[in-house]
Amino acid sequence: MQTNFTAEQLADPHVAEAEAILRKCVHCGFCTATCPTYVTLGNELDSPRGRIYLIKDMLENGRPADDQIVTHIDRCLSCLACTTTCPSGVDYMHLVDHARIHIEKTYRRPLMNRLTRNMLAMVLPYPGRFRLALKLAALGRPFAGIFDQVKSLKPMAAMLRLAPSKVAPPSNFAKPAIHAPAATRRGRVAILTGCAQPVLDPGINEAAISLLTRLGVEVVVPQGEGCCGALVHHMGREEQALDSARRNVDVWTRASEAGGLDAIIVTTSGCGTTIKDYGHMLRLDPAYAEKAARVSALAKDVTEYLSTLDLPVAETKGLTVAYHSACSLQHGQKVTMAPKLLLKSAGFTVKDPPEGHLCCGSAGTYNIMQPEISARLKARKVKNIEATKPDIISAGNIGCMTQIGSATGIPVVHTVELLNWAYGGPRPKALDRRTAV
Ligand code: SF4
Ligand code: SF4
Repeated sequence: MQTNFTAEQLADPHVAEAEAILRKCVHCGFCTATCPTYVTLGNELDSPRGRIYLIKDMLENGRPADDQIVTHIDRCLSCLACTTTCPSGVDYMHLVDHARIHIEKTYRRPLMNRLTRNMLAMVLPYPGRFRLALKLAALGRPFAGIFDQVKSLKPMAAMLRLAPSKVAPPSNFAKPAIHAPAATRRGRVAILTGCAQPVLDPGINEAAISLLTRLGVEVVVPQGEGCCGALVHHMGREEQALDSARRNVDVWTRASEAGGLDAIIVTTSGCGTTIKDYGHMLRLDPAYAEKAARVSALAKDVTEYLSTLDLPVAETKGLTVAYHSACSLQHGQKVTMAPKLLLKSAGFTVKDPPEGHLCCGSAGTYNIMQPEISARLKARKVKNIEATKPDIISAGNIGCMTQIGSATGIPVVHTVELLNWAYGGPRPKALDRRTAV
């Protein structure tokens, strides 16, 4: 794509990066076929190519964001299916990141939209606040229908409906600790506790730590770790996201200096995609660029790391698992085979649902901020998954698990919980939702 930025504009390294990305796009439109919003809405401006044109026009003319561009960029799920499809290697992820920062700096959102976004940014990254908010949401759920009547309050209704009816107590596994290996030592890792996942499902990291230590891996839950920053990053709140990244880089650098780390294990693939991008996010910060690049290189999805440990083939369980490949794992991190191969070795029959490349509509806070498109994607995803007639649905991202679990009676279980069970750990509690299992 031809671009016409001035030398002065290109002196800004962020604009220069955006320009280099834009120039790679050859307008072929292959990406439209796999873009969930284009497939759902059929509007070119809700396709990757359409958004790329809008971003080019805004940046090249150095103008503030307007209603049109905000509408179409807000509708983008950041699922990154377009980056998997694009034959020219267009780095849409960093282009849309830059567009979101520009929007945040130059556009004044309507009041309710602003308040909702502020509330999400102030609550979700903090487990204590999030836990309290979920308890309050359980009380407010009967009013969801009333909120649904007013367009600007629909996100509130979506939030109330998504909140679980019960919130588990805080897990001991979320506290700073060093979990010693329970077999001959073969590695040392840190694990991300994160923010929303330990509140919504503390059993996931409990299973990961339990399995890893039984396999001989020392697992460090470092003091001071927090939210990876993905949520605010996707809102274009750059400084807040970079602060989260710097804090975690410091924490993991200390953990590495204290005893070495073979990996930083992430059990929520949405967070994993962001942590693997810390090196890029902090590339212009001389105090952090190198450290952040080291942290990104160490970050591994739990299934990526487990694949290096040569787990034995387990006896068949006689259970069929539909593997839902989270966008952040398949498109963001390009981890596609490891979870399925591990599940097969662990004795499960694994099914790939049709249209596996399409997002389930969860996408961080998308299911709250864009409830209508999200609901359509969820219904399509669940129909495709149920068509495989599975006993269990497996996924590696709490957002997808919550989204899909809200629309099906089939238990949704994190991949690492199934692996932990297959290799001697307890049966995942979610399986109690279906008595036949
Ligand atoms: S597939 Fe790639 S090159 Fe083609 S229009 Fe989409 S982003 Fe541009
Ligand atoms: S990230 Fe997903 S929703 Fe956004 S343009 Fe790409 S394919 Fe479409």
